[in-house]
Amino acid sequence: MSVTVEGAGTFASLNPATGEVVAEHPVHDDAAVAAALGRAREAAHWWGALGWKERRVRLLNVKGSLTRNLGRMAELVHQETGKPLKDAQLEIIMAVAHLDWAARNAAKVLGPRSVRPGLMALNQRCLLEYRPLGVVGVIGPWNYPVLTPMGSIAYALAAGNAVVFKPSEYTPGVGELLAGIVAGVVPEHPVLQTVTGRGPTGAALAASPAVDKIAFTGSARTARRVMAACAANLTPIVAECSGKDACLVDADADLDAAADAVLWGAMSNAGQTCIGVERVYVVDEAYEAFLGKLADRARGLRPGFDREADYGPITMPAQLDVIERHIGDALERGGEAVVGGAASVRRPYVDPVVLTGVPDDAAAVREETFGPTVTVHRVKDLDEAVEKANATGYGLAGTVFSGSRSRALDAARRIRSGMTSINSFASFVQVAALPFGGVGESGFGRVHGADGLREFARPKAITRQRFATGNLTSFAGTDKDMARVLGLVTLLHGRRHRR
Ligand code: NAD
Repeated sequence: MSVTVEGAGTFASLNPATGEVVAEHPVHDDAAVAAALGRAREAAHWWGALGWKERRVRLLNVKGSLTRNLGRMAELVHQETGKPLKDAQLEIIMAVAHLDWAARNAAKVLGPRSVRPGLMALNQRCLLEYRPLGVVGVIGPWNYPVLTPMGSIAYALAAGNAVVFKPSEYTPGVGELLAGIVAGVVPEHPVLQTVTGRGPTGAALAASPAVDKIAFTGSARTARRVMAACAANLTPIVAECSGKDACLVDADADLDAAADAVLWGAMSNAGQTCIGVERVYVVDEAYEAFLGKLADRARGLRPGFDREADYGPITMPAQLDVIERHIGDALERGGEAVVGGAASVRRPYVDPVVLTGVPDDAAAVREETFGPTVTVHRVKDLDEAVEKANATGYGLAGTVFSGSRSRALDAARRIRSGMTSINSFASFVQVAALPFGGVGESGFGRVHGADGLREFARPKAITRQRFATGNLTSFAGTDKDMARVLGLVTLLHGRRHRR
């Protein structure tokens, strides 16, 4: 359900292509957020006690309802973000897959299991289970307004928590529709509520002592603020932040496939993708051929809001200044625009831009651009490509194209990031069983997969003594008891190990 509130004012969500108002939404202030958290606490008690099977059925029905509402949701995403309808559909399809996986796997990943006690504690029966945290606050971005928050919401709900969701101020309608879909299937308690507003609404959620964890997705800058607010209550957070991901292209790579993947990775959703390709490092022998293929394809792309457009406008007007600055700075510092250039920024659209010869310390190579631009660099081998890919503070994902399985795997391992896709772009996102998250400025903690479920649960260890052994942890213990245990420890652990 979405939260209704009197007197705190409203704000409009706008279509970034036309500037038209999509809808008005309430601004939820501190009191409204606190009220939502209060309701969520009750919902969490009920939902947590419901048990794995009941939650699974309900979440699979939420998935069914989201699937049946896919058209309506996609149209709303299209209106609020400006992205093409088919991109919105694809995003929702992936969100559905995550809901399905989380619902089906929560009991297996988080349910009670016995653990072997080891020889020193043979008299103990050991139980490990993962309890819900209670109330999870999810703060989301606008660029994938269904898929990204669902990466936290689905897993948090499946783990037995209630969720209060603060969508981006650019996509509040999507957040409200999501909460409405959940309420339609789970009418008993508001297990998912949406609070709308700008930064201060998110800040109220993060600062509340009534929230048990914050799942934040957005910029590293805002993540720092959220973390600072959470520090006051020792509220843990998972932070999914910005990126500056690279694609590495080996000398023997399939260059058509690499050019296709880089084109999609850099330009789809107008480049507004946290794991988007922003830099490409191409091994010398393949450089000219790859660049030609990429440039040819990029020239064929057209932004717009019509059904044939390849990608939409820049959703957040302020980002246009960043994109303009990065292109301008790159050109001023000796870079060359092989496709597009400074004139490619035609507000609210940006035509494709492919830059070469941009110095490593330029903003276009170091900072997140979040536009349909990409820098292409010549390197002598994959080692240099890995080194350059790792030369930013970010570390979200990455791509490697190579004809050699072993070289690709070796490079994938050495890229300092949470995910790497070999010979395709970002395939890990579609695989719900794989964890998703970054390192460094790209954040910490994981959503998706078993790790994503555990992120929203608290491990609980229980031991039950079956029979008494020595008195070592008693004041009645004797030197003889200790001597016996020392003998056992020497036998068990004192040996030398040979290969
Ligand atoms: P943002 O940081 O501006 O805002 C994110 C959310 O935080 C919004 O809902 C916003 O209202 C809220 N917020 C703002 N100030 C706040 C405060 N002081 N306290 C609490 N909440 C506050 O980011 P954005 O522009 O919405 O999203 C784009 C960014 O998100 C990009 O940097 C992108 O790379 C990143 N992103 C990361 C992932 C990932 O999984 N790593 C996924 C999608 C987007």
